[in-house]
Amino acid sequence: GSIGVAVYPHDTRDTADLMRRAESAMHLAKRTEGNAIEFSSGDLNSDVRARVSLEGQLRRAVDHQEGFFLHYQPRVAAGDGRVVGVEALLRWQDAAGTVHSPATFIPILEETGLIVELGQWILTEACRQCHAWHQAGLPAVRMSVNLAAPQFRDRQMATSIDRVLAETGLDPNALELEVTETMLMADIEQVIRTLGQFRKRGVRVALDDFGTGYSSLAYLRRFPLDVLKIDRSFVADLQPSASDAAIVRTILGLADNLGLESVAEGVETAQQQAFLQEEGCQTLQGFLFARPQSAADCERFLARPASAIAHPGYRA
Ligand code: C2E
Ligand code: CA
Ligand code: CA
Repeated sequence: GSIGVAVYPHDTRDTADLMRRAESAMHLAKRTEGNAIEFSSGDLNSDVRARVSLEGQLRRAVDHQEGFFLHYQPRVAAGDGRVVGVEALLRWQDAAGTVHSPATFIPILEETGLIVELGQWILTEACRQCHAWHQAGLPAVRMSVNLAAPQFRDRQMATSIDRVLAETGLDPNALELEVTETMLMADIEQVIRTLGQFRKRGVRVALDDFGTGYSSLAYLRRFPLDVLKIDRSFVADLQPSASDAAIVRTILGLADNLGLESVAEGVETAQQQAFLQEEGCQTLQGFLFARPQSAADCERFLARPASAIAHPGYRA
């Protein structure tokens, strides 16, 4: 549960205002990490106003399919720098022209349920783009699409995927869905059924942000997964002697034992790249190789020779 706290008479002496403050503190708790407690504060009112306005803008944007677009971030093979996949990352430009980070608006889309409708568009657009790249003779990369919890819980998800694949013509094998640990640790039997439905279609599943949530290793073994993505917080401070290095090594060992492909996110330096290569991480993703970028830029990136990517420090 998420709890918002407002204190009488510190925050306000008005009952209705007190309730409002407690509620918005609760929304903040949900938005930041969930299962948390947030206290109301003096300037909460402007927070509430901003949130209500943002929610209204997002509703209109989803209704009219306005302002949303996808960026794509390549993921490369650690060995030879070949681009093996691309992750679709959602962006939103409001009516005033400001481009928002998904970290601010995705939680609102999730809370309001709007993500289910928009998620369908994301999936379709990402698959359409990937198929177009395949048709153009570019390297046959996989497309990774992030799923939000309400989408993953949606019983119609497998049918939606069938429809999208049929509509876009994308090979199911080229689609990878990214889910998080929290999503998997809910109703285990149902989760296994859902993942099984994806697997049956040839669609791959990646466990995103691995190491930041709660995973039961016993269950991890039972889930039909294909990929383990090491969260970028562990990659960020990688030094051979530090504890993060030990965690990364352990996760790589786990992925290996479970027969999963390992991906490191947030690779920014050549040192991180070298360490991860040395430790046998299979694929790498991060600003060192490429930032999330427009479809046109990503297409140019896909067309480059792999050797230019394996040693990004030397690229022209
Ligand atoms: P994520 O799935 O973990 O995506 C990776 C995030 O790390 C992206 O942030 C990406 O821009 C950033 N990143 C990649 N390489 C580096 C690096 O080398 N250094 C650093 N510092 N950051 C790097 P972004 O695009 O802001 O997305 C944030 C989060 O929003 C995503 O985290 C994902 O959870 C969510 N999100 C994005 N697009 C979608 C979507 O279409 N659907 C859903 N449900 N969630 C999405
Ligand atoms: Ca992701
Ligand atoms: Ca991630």
